[in-house]
Amino acid sequence: MTDRPRRVGLSKSKITMFEQCPKRLWLSVHRGELAEQDEGAEARFATGHEVGALACALLPDGVMIEAEPDLAAAVATTQALLYNGHDRPIFEATLQHDGVLVRIDVLEPDGASGWHMAEVKSSTKAKDYHVGDLATQLWVARNAGVPISSAAIRHIDSSFILEREGDFDGLFADTDLMAAAEPIIAGRSETVAAARATLAGAEPGTAPGAHCDAPFPCEFAGYCHAALPAGPEWPVTVLPHGGGKRWVEQGIVDLFVVDPAALTNATHARVHRATVSGEVYHDVEGARAAMAGWAFPRTWLDFETIGFAVPRWIGARPYQQVPFQFSAHVETEEGAVTHHEFLSLDGSDPRRACAEALVEMVPQTGAVIGYNASFEKGRILELAAAFPELADALTAMAARVVDLLPVTRANWYHRDQRGSWSIKAVLPTVAADMDYAALEVKDGGSAQEAYAEAIAADCTAERRAALDAALRAYCGRDTEAMIVLARGLSGAL
Ligand code: SF4
Repeated sequence: MTDRPRRVGLSKSKITMFEQCPKRLWLSVHRGELAEQDEGAEARFATGHEVGALACALLPDGVMIEAEPDLAAAVATTQALLYNGHDRPIFEATLQHDGVLVRIDVLEPDGASGWHMAEVKSSTKAKDYHVGDLATQLWVARNAGVPISSAAIRHIDSSFILEREGDFDGLFADTDLMAAAEPIIAGRSETVAAARATLAGAEPGTAPGAHCDAPFPCEFAGYCHAALPAGPEWPVTVLPHGGGKRWVEQGIVDLFVVDPAALTNATHARVHRATVSGEVYHDVEGARAAMAGWAFPRTWLDFETIGFAVPRWIGARPYQQVPFQFSAHVETEEGAVTHHEFLSLDGSDPRRACAEALVEMVPQTGAVIGYNASFEKGRILELAAAFPELADALTAMAARVVDLLPVTRANWYHRDQRGSWSIKAVLPTVAADMDYAALEVKDGGSAQEAYAEAIAADCTAERRAALDAALRAYCGRDTEAMIVLARGLSGAL
């Protein structure tokens, strides 16, 4: 008697994986240990959990199908409800067909004899790849005999504003995708059979490509890329704003073999020249001229913000970037620099205190300088709109905002920036000792994680103090970096 291959159960997410890349599905089932850790996964999971729980809470007469003691029991419980006239919402209805098991976020009675299906997402709109998710759910539900009359992605409505504490009525909006899912449903049996055949076979030989990042960054990228021959040291992909795509399509991957005469974009030509020659592009006079009109005292300003999917503070919208911290280095014409900062880690709405600190700490005259400064300007104007009594001072401050990024982009390029003018890419090329590597908080994403951790109820005083120090060091470094960069651009270092 020969062993029959074990039939692997499939799920919505496994089918999504298969559709992105057969090899990804195969690796996830047979070589899961090769997956790289996804640093943002925990925060995304927490957001998804919060959003999902709230979607359920807004339907208080709903019934949750628990996954305990096992999914077979969940299927049985779901069937018992569906086939015995249950007439209230069901959460995590668990159904299966042809070895594909799905848990449907929300089933709501449609008022006739069918059900409205909703998949809850923390995005602010339905995305193309959601259609495939919904198609799998619909395919299983229909084949399991559940009459589905409509099916939607239930996403966050970005126009929602929290007006009363705990009142989230209106936070979600449904985008019906039933019609869009039909063509995919029609081919689902074949897709499932193909996924199963892939799993039963040897590791697919799929080569890495654009599909490795869409719709999701693949956790096996390290494994797959390690198997490729090493690429050139300076690939065409360092050309910014997708400038390398045209060359890749022609089979040219090494920037050194690109004909400079064919580069019609001035920035691409500059990046090419600096990379091939190894010489820094630096227009000192251009940089000085661009900054000459920035009046003193100059305030070098940087915000750190947090954007919760589910707004926590009255007057806030979903994902609104609320400033919880800023750093301001104030520089006189003589070169004296004083540092000011604001940081709120008590979990209360930081906006009022932030607005007051800005008005108090930022001089009433002189340029206010940011890096990609439309962000700083936008936050200041939002604070002005939220606090009318501070609006005059904040609006005047916003009118004095100027931007160091375009000055840098136009007047400096070192090949080690590898096509990026982010301050973290530029700074080490101007001042090698000023990198971010030694900081605990190294970028905006980790600042947000630090903030979320610090305001959590279970954060100890000791840990909060450590996070406080790490956040201050990071944000302060950003504004200090701008001063050093501006001096470097002006030839004053
Ligand atoms: S890295 Fe790309 S090729 Fe490799 S499994 Fe992932 S999606 Fe497939």
